[in-house]
Amino acid sequence: MANIKTLGKRKRIALVAHDHKKIDLIEWAVYNKTELAKHELFATGTTGKLLEEALDRPVKKMLSGPLGGDQQIGAMIAQGEIDIMLFFWDPMEAQPHDSDVKALLRLCVTWNIPMACDRATADFIVTSPFMHDEYFAAQPDYTGYLNRPVKDED
Ligand code: PGA
Repeated sequence: MANIKTLGKRKRIALVAHDHKKIDLIEWAVYNKTELAKHELFATGTTGKLLEEALDRPVKKMLSGPLGGDQQIGAMIAQGEIDIMLFFWDPMEAQPHDSDVKALLRLCVTWNIPMACDRATADFIVTSPFMHDEYFAAQPDYTGYLNRPVKDED
């Protein structure tokens, strides 16, 4: 049977926006302030600072994304400490930390984390009934990978 991770009613939401997407994310967060008030927020440094100002509430801030913040959030995901990811990344501009961006997107899929990369998907997630209830997230089974043979057969 697949492992199940129970997400509580109060979700741990990570928010990240690239510079050209920050206004978009802040506008979205202000519009959804009442819903977001029920949850715990985490963010990369600059995004978190802007969110704190706009929402007038504390946000747990990591380092700025290019300085390691994306990787800090990725580590939290791998440790089961983030329930939802809102990552408004910029499709029109290469980032100095593109490898970190890719790593974060990959970890969300690795651990079956609901992830929005644009406003429309964020709207669907924030209005889901699962936001107000427990959610039982299937955890991918990596047993086969963990037990793979790694020794040479000679
Ligand atoms: P920032 O980082 O919120 O510190 O600007 C975002 C990013 O990962 O680019």
